[in-house]
Amino acid sequence: MLRSAPLLFVTIVLSVSQVVVAQNTTHDTTPNPAARWLSHIQYLASDELAGRETGSEGHRRAAEYVAAAFKRAGLKPGGTQGYFQPVKFISRKIVEQQSSLAIIRNPKGQSSGKEEPIVLGEEATFSMSIEHASRTEAPIVFVGYGLTVPENNYDDLAGLDLRGKVVLLLSGGPSEIPGPLRAHYQNTRWEALKRAGVIGVISIQNPIGQDIPWERSKLARLRPALSLAEPGLEENAGQQLAVTFNPAKAERLFVDSGHSFAEIMKLAEAGKPLPRFAIPASVRATVKFEKQIVESQNVAGILPGTDPRLRSEYVVLTAHLDHVGTGEPINGDPIYNGAMDNASGIATLLEAARTFSEKKLRFRRSVIFLAVTAEEHGLRGSKYYAAHPTVPATGIVANINIDMFLPLFPFRSFIVQGLEESNLAEDLQSVARSIGVEVLSDPEPERRAFVRSDQYSFIRKGVPAISLKVGFVKDSPEHEIVKRWRRERYHAPSDDLQQPIDFEAAAKFNAAYLRVIESVANRAERPRWNSSSFFKRFAHAEKDVPRR
Ligand SMILES: [Zn+2]
Repeated sequence: MLRSAPLLFVTIVLSVSQVVVAQNTTHDTTPNPAARWLSHIQYLASDELAGRETGSEGHRRAAEYVAAAFKRAGLKPGGTQGYFQPVKFISRKIVEQQSSLAIIRNPKGQSSGKEEPIVLGEEATFSMSIEHASRTEAPIVFVGYGLTVPENNYDDLAGLDLRGKVVLLLSGGPSEIPGPLRAHYQNTRWEALKRAGVIGVISIQNPIGQDIPWERSKLARLRPALSLAEPGLEENAGQQLAVTFNPAKAERLFVDSGHSFAEIMKLAEAGKPLPRFAIPASVRATVKFEKQIVESQNVAGILPGTDPRLRSEYVVLTAHLDHVGTGEPINGDPIYNGAMDNASGIATLLEAARTFSEKKLRFRRSVIFLAVTAEEHGLRGSKYYAAHPTVPATGIVANINIDMFLPLFPFRSFIVQGLEESNLAEDLQSVARSIGVEVLSDPEPERRAFVRSDQYSFIRKGVPAISLKVGFVKDSPEHEIVKRWRRERYHAPSDDLQQPIDFEAAAKFNAAYLRVIESVANRAERPRWNSSSFFKRFAHAEKDVPRR
């Protein structure tokens, strides 16, 4: 990898932990907030917990650690079994030696063409979160971004015969579609594809806004993928084939089509719509996988509200507890510790519970502390909770999520994902003013972060939500630090305890988070979506859902 000075990082961290130890063992008895925060990460991101893969022993022990911390903080059990809410998953793991992918060149339309194998891992991977057909063979149609956005009269599928076809698409969307819509319709793309009769999808990973280089992301293909076992909670029913294609190898898919991938990328870089056309080839796939049922846990604790009128309303604080477990070694290290992603967010959640308990702070509304599983498997733990909340669904008034808030440089601003969408922005603005920091919109909307973490599970149930991070301005030196961190450490074994962390930033962020919780849990009116927000529609849909 590109890390130039790993030994230097080790030195820095050791010296910082020496300082921390010194503060805790000298006569200074005032607790150091970052030291306690760090102590949770030291356990959760230790090699002992082996990367907290959903359903693993490491995750189970992490869940027990969280439940014990909730209990110490005096939270009421908020699960279905004490603090736990068990969730069942179907786990699928590719047997790559018995699987294959090929293109059948068939320019003259004969039934038997020339088979060109595609190298699994190097060129493409099967996405195992769907129930693949054991064998698929179908003509390919390039459908641009494959998006159908009724609000903008935008339809990449219009006028194409897609019945029984496999579509080839580039992930992303044109700039004419506002960010939230683009994000939402990418997430729910299968709905329109299915209606059009499509049986499978080959998705070329768009290099724009991509966090992990292919060389690293391909390693994840051999890990099991999970989907919710409960029928009806998965939205990809009917899809027979799901392939992700390496953009650096995608040119070969366009041979003889009259178009090139280079030309398509040029349009995509300019934010323009893409041409759509049949590819003179078919795809042939054989997929063999191992399947089993896996159980994992959400962990929930409740701080009851004090106002008789408002205590049946709940503010849900989420952070995901799971990470990606163990996998292909990188630099000899097979454990993906997930220190920033997201032991750091869980540590922030636990410290909030502890601080409220120590200061005997309660709020007008009730607050649910929720550590969710299976975020790394498509937000599926939070999706399960949102479908089966342990309090009445209509009482959930807001969600505040913390995922990988990255205290890597001084805390001078919040990035608030969802800032433009609801009047939770008012709480953020007033807290930020009171502590002298700024509030920033997401500087990288192309990463679709608002729909890529657990807040999205609540948004889809109509609940106004935000996600908070340490802020940076686009193209600033801090942005470079974040981008480098993603390239080198995000979903890599090096997201471990041997990395530089700005402890002062972490402590200040954690203190600011407490103020945000206080503001939302005590506000006079229940939070509302802005009338201009795309996500408001889900709040209306929710009214039709019967109360549990
Ligand atoms: Zn992650």
